[in-house]
Formats: sequence, structure tokens, C-alpha cells
Amino acid sequence: MIVERAPIRYRIVPRHPEAHVFEVILTVDRPDPGGQTFTMPAWIPGSYMIREFARHVVRIAARCGRRAIALEKLDKHTWRAAPCDGPLRVTYEVYAWDLSVRGAHLDTTHAFFNGTCVFLRVEGQAEAPCTVEILPPSGSAHRRWRVATAMPSAGARRHGFGAYRARNYDELIDHPVEMGEFALAGFTARGVEHEVAITGRQSADLTRLARDLERMTAHHIDFFGGRAPMRYYVFLVMAVGDGYGGLEHRASTALICSRDDLPRAGVEKQDDRYRVFLGLASHEYFHTWNVKRIKPAAFSPYDLSRENYTRLLWAFEGMTSYYDDLALVRCGLLTPPQYLAALARTMTAVERGSGRAKQSVAESSFDAWVKYYRQDENAPNAIVSYYAKGALIALALDLTIRRATRGRKSLDDVMRALWQEYGKTGRGVGETDIEVLAERISGVRLERFFTSALYSCADLPLAALLRDFGIKVTLRAAQSASDRGGGMSEKREPSEPRAVLGARTEAFGPEVKLAQVFDGGCAQAAGLSAGDVLVAFDGIRVSSANFERLLERRKPGERMHVHAFRRDELIVRELRLLAAPVDTYGLEIDVHAPATRRRLRDAWLKPTTGAASRRR
Ligand code: ZN
Repeated sequence: MIVERAPIRYRIVPRHPEAHVFEVILTVDRPDPGGQTFTMPAWIPGSYMIREFARHVVRIAARCGRRAIALEKLDKHTWRAAPCDGPLRVTYEVYAWDLSVRGAHLDTTHAFFNGTCVFLRVEGQAEAPCTVEILPPSGSAHRRWRVATAMPSAGARRHGFGAYRARNYDELIDHPVEMGEFALAGFTARGVEHEVAITGRQSADLTRLARDLERMTAHHIDFFGGRAPMRYYVFLVMAVGDGYGGLEHRASTALICSRDDLPRAGVEKQDDRYRVFLGLASHEYFHTWNVKRIKPAAFSPYDLSRENYTRLLWAFEGMTSYYDDLALVRCGLLTPPQYLAALARTMTAVERGSGRAKQSVAESSFDAWVKYYRQDENAPNAIVSYYAKGALIALALDLTIRRATRGRKSLDDVMRALWQEYGKTGRGVGETDIEVLAERISGVRLERFFTSALYSCADLPLAALLRDFGIKVTLRAAQSASDRGGGMSEKREPSEPRAVLGARTEAFGPEVKLAQVFDGGCAQAAGLSAGDVLVAFDGIRVSSANFERLLERRKPGERMHVHAFRRDELIVRELRLLAAPVDTYGLEIDVHAPATRRRLRDAWLKPTTGAASRRR
């Protein structure tokens, strides 16, 4: 059989920005003579949920040469054109009003799309090269629009409209595209050109942003050996009032952040919000290696028509979450105390969910499609995050290897071996390959570690491990509703134990609603449920303004009458308050630790050395 190599031609135009409609014209020069089928992906790689992007296709028609031909719908995301000897042209419109990194969004201010949302796949020709003509919306209002994407040009000037190309469909949908009047910054790291395109109203200090991102990207490139697998990389940033999210791609990432997360001109002090933004950028950039190239065998190749199951998301998301902040401390963008405070907050978040006693990270990975990505009010009682617990497993694994080898080996060596043996070669990572590789590379017996950490719900021995690295660990009850753990400087004088409801609440207009009710808490014991709106405690009206104060005056063990509305029915319950659980971690450098422990700690937190940084 002759391999079909005629390019698949796409043309995309923001046809009606005010109606959020893209028009796409797809031309297939050599369609299947028996009737060509087309499919729209059901999900986007990196975000493990069935989204059924075909539901946004509004209008679709096919022509064979000049003649209109039938286009039959076979299932929710598949169409088949009547036989045609080519060229076959399919014209369709896509509604784009999802302002997320996973979707497509178009209005009169900008356009953003992921290929999974707008490009039909030509069945049988997924390996054919693709060309994409990206056109501007009509009208003078959009004449200053530009294009930002890592998709290679096929004639378009940098940031220009015109022709782009991809080697195949898989690459085509891995280059999101932004159009509009974005702000641009650029830098070069280890010979790789990087750009940051920021859409949305903001007044970020672009010079500082570029300088900090250069440090982070150079660190990651060095970590994996000094030569990046791409020549050009772009951060596509959407700055909004309140938002957070990112999605990784082979040579770019799409990020959503709050405009206040970006550094402000003239303000040199680094605040927590900017640290979170840098952590997000670092996370997605690390994915350039870990998940975009070092991939589960279950994703090699992706089946975009249905769920792709793997028990390895703890490794691809958890290890990436471990290294995102660790890289920042190693390259000097976080101080060790700031890093340890962030780590303590992750430990606290995992500790607080009773779901960690019901689901292993392997199970959480496997069920991501229906659990982690579809969280409801019961999520903390039912789910463990393969991000947060996965990051702690990576930490425990790293410290275990370092301790057992007296610092000669580490998880860094395992990651570099994964890159050499899987990422560079394109070989998919089998479900237990990481366990085998970690033992081989480190020379440490890890079977019991993995059995417990990955496949059971046992807690990790983090406190003991961290102490061996000269880190002081404390575990205490939260000191306020907003206490998420962190350093130990926040510790006050030992106070009376606080009474808590055993629920997460949220403002509901001026009232207070139970958002989540925790297993084992007093709200649940009293028969209160998520969704209940609190009315009164012992006859005193509860509002979001006085809720915290009313609780602060109570002691654990006290009983009180709670009035609440469930739907429109008033319920009255007697509730016995419990003490705030001991679930909040603090981490701090132990300045008095013995020298052996300090050496281990320094080697862990200080700049590491891939081949390139050793060369420098
Ligand atoms: Zn991730």
C-alpha cells in the first residue's frame, strides 16, 4: 500500500467574533473513495475528561469539487462524506466561548483555540502532513491583531497571519493558537528562543517576567542534559480578573492567571501570587519533557475517541508537581524557607482529605476521568489528588534514594534516565517501568516503598525522612479558618483548642452555605449536608460577616442548636462541636542539624547538575 502523503489543508478564520464563531474549511485532495470519515476529538491530551468537542460544531457541509454532497453523521463525533474522487471540501462552523486552556474562545478582543476543538481528523490520513492557513477576522477593528503559536510557519511571518504547518494531526492539535493584540516579551535560554504572549488587560513588568522565566527554563533544560527538544517555545498567557490553570504542549503552554499574579513594574518584592504564577509556568515547562515526550505507553498513541486509562498520572503530574517548585528553589527564584512553606501546604492539603484513606494514587490516576476531573461536594471524602500526593511520593522517593545512597543518587538521576531511555526514543512508559527503572538507576531496593506509596492508602513517612535532611517538622491544629500550613513562624502561643464545624463553607449572598461536609466531622454527625444554608446558631442569626466570630466563641465539646435551610425546608439540628483536627504542617530549616544531615539537605535544595550545568 502506498503511504498517503498529500497534505491535509485547513483554513481557519474568526468569522463572527461577536457571535464567537470560527469558520473552518478542510480540504482533502485524496479522500477515501468509499466515503471519507472525519472525527472530532472527545478530549484534549493533558486534561483527562471526556469533553466531546464535536458538540460545538454548529453547521457543517461537504462539497466534491463544485458539487454539494451528503455528509452523514455516524455517531456523536463522526461524519462520513458520500464517495468523492477529490478534492473533498468540508466547511463548518465552531462555536467558541470557553475561556479555558482546554477549549476555544473567540470574541471581538481576541481568539484562542486548541486544535482539538476546531480541526476534524481525516480518518486514515492522520499521519499526513497538514497545512493551516490562519486568517484574521474581517473589518478594520481587528487590523492590529497578531498571531502567537509554536506551530511552524509555512510562509507566515513571525506573529503574522498566513500559512503554518504540522507534520501530522497529532502535532497539529498540539500547537494552540492565540490571536489578538497581546503584549510580547522574549528571551533566549540555552540557545532556545522563548516568547511570552499575554492577552487581557494587565500592566506586568515584562522585563522582570522574561528574566525570571529565563532562569527557570534554563534550569529545566540543564536538568535534562542541556539540550532542549524544541528550538522555539511560547508561553500563551491569558490574564483575567480571577483565574488559574495551565495546559502543556510540546513547544508551548497555555496559561490562565489573575492579572495580579503577574509582577508589577517598580515592585521588586516577590509576592506569594507571583510565586504561584512562576510555579505554574515551571510546572507546564517541565511537562515539555515529562508527559509530552516521556509518555505513558497508554498514550502512545492517544486514542482521542475515548478514555485512555493509565495508573501513572501520579508520576506524570505528581513528579512534575514536585519539580515545579523544587526547580524554583534550585534556581534561586524561591528561598528555601519559601519552598518549605509551599511543601508544608501540600502536605497539609493531602492530610486534610479523608479520601486519602480510600483511594490510592494508582486508583486516582486510573479514575481521573470520572473522579479527579469531575469533583463534586464529596470529593475530599472520596478522592486523593494524584498531583498533591503524587508530589509527596516523588519527594519521599527522592529523599529515600538520597538517604540510602548518602547523596550519590537521587530522583534527578531517575528522571534523566527516563528522558534518555523513553523520552528521547519515543518508547512508551509501561505501567511498572518507573518502579523497575528507579531501582536499577539508584541501586536501592524500592519494592516495598512503591507497593505502599502507589497501591495502598498508607501515609508516607515524610516526617522521618525530612528530619534526616535537617528539616524541622511540626503537626498542629489549624489556628484559623485560613491556616493552610507553612513555616513555623506563624506559630502563636499555645492557645485553647478551636472548635470547628467539620465542613468547608462558602458565602451564599450574605448567608453561609456548607460547600463540603467532611467525614467524621460534627456537621455530618448532626445530619447537616453540603448545600445546606445556615440560618442561626442557638437562635442567633448567622451571616458570612459573623460566622467566624460566632464559632470562635465556642469551645470543643459544646452543644449548639443549628437552624439551616435544605432547599426551602427549615431543619433544626443539635450539634456537638469538635476540636480542630491536628492536620496542619509546618516545615523549617533546622539550623542545629548535624553536618551529615545539612550536607544531604544542601545537595537536595541547591542547584543540581545536569550535564550542561556541569560543563558551564
Ligand atoms: Zn500538569
